[in-house]
Amino acid sequence: MIAAEPKACHTATVPDWQQELARAVRDPLELLALLGLTPPQIGPAVSAESLRAAAADFPLRVPRSFIARMRHGDPQDPLLRQVLSVPEELLAAADFVTDPLQETAARGAPGLLQKYQGRALLIATGTCAVHCRYCFRRHYDYSADQADDQPRWAAALQAIEADAQIEEIIVSGGDPLSLGNARLAQLLERLGAVQRLRRIRIHTRTPIVLPSRVDAGLCETLSRLRNRLVVVVHANHPAELDAPVLQALRLLGATATAVLNQSVLLAGVNDDAATLAELSRRLFDGGVLPYYLHQLDQVTGAAHFAVGDARAIQLHATLIATLPGYLVPRLVRELPGASGKTPIFNGTSGDPLKA
Ligand SMILES: *Cc1c(COP(=O)(O)O)cnc(C)c1O
Ligand code: SF4
Repeated sequence: MIAAEPKACHTATVPDWQQELARAVRDPLELLALLGLTPPQIGPAVSAESLRAAAADFPLRVPRSFIARMRHGDPQDPLLRQVLSVPEELLAAADFVTDPLQETAARGAPGLLQKYQGRALLIATGTCAVHCRYCFRRHYDYSADQADDQPRWAAALQAIEADAQIEEIIVSGGDPLSLGNARLAQLLERLGAVQRLRRIRIHTRTPIVLPSRVDAGLCETLSRLRNRLVVVVHANHPAELDAPVLQALRLLGATATAVLNQSVLLAGVNDDAATLAELSRRLFDGGVLPYYLHQLDQVTGAAHFAVGDARAIQLHATLIATLPGYLVPRLVRELPGASGKTPIFNGTSGDPLKA
């Protein structure tokens, strides 16, 4: 008889996506080197020191699978522009402030923002898989919420359970999918138990920048909420949607009632009609419908991404003239104090291109 083999010890394995996240690039010079670029190619006055100074203000963070989708040797690459810290961020710009949406004032319970009727936004964590240079929460003080510590989550959850007006929870951040599956399941289970909630929505950019995050454990957790679940992802350029991302989006689609996308209109990234139209088409290839195209929130450090309203309206009109209606995102801006996202249009009726 053969003696039983001793059982292999169960080492807790770190999921692939967490290992990838741990290996994310955090230094602008490493990022440029990976793409075969040098600082002066980014701009005439750009140096190693100035790139690092901008990253000291808001840390650079990019998963390698996102870098792999950038064009080697192209300083204008639209994916690179979204994540590279540049000295322009440190220039002061009129009307660009640290809390453009006055969110600090909208805070109810710690970690809970209530601005619109029937909906409340839960800051599940302050962490993101990528740092987007235009992020309107780049100066948000998450430490005041610390929603990812247990007692604070409990306060937000109690507020949700107690408020009969809330029919939808938006789980946001930061990025809620930067939480591990066990933590996320804990949160979603608690929300799912509130029968009054008709919809549970997850706002996340992680499936776009790190598609391996959509693993079996996540799909299983999300599927339990399928009939009430809405997932809103965030992609800005069609080159973000390569085959692994489309696959991840299809998997997400099988767990939810709807998967939608929001984009931010960004100068030098997606401010042309052909790019935006192709983004909508590729989203559809992944089973995702466009939701919002946001005008930039005027946050300190992001002024170089601004696109004027006249240009935005023109781009949007071209999308209407190019795509079926369900592939045209709503062009909106967030105004502090407004009762919802504010649509941007030229106010005239008739053919949108001729108006
Ligand atoms: C954007 C936002 C929402 C969601 O708005 P929708 O128009 O429903 O997508 C909800 N709460 C807050 C605080 C928001 O900023
Ligand atoms: S993923 Fe979203 S919250 Fe995180 S940095 Fe990007 S825009 Fe901001």
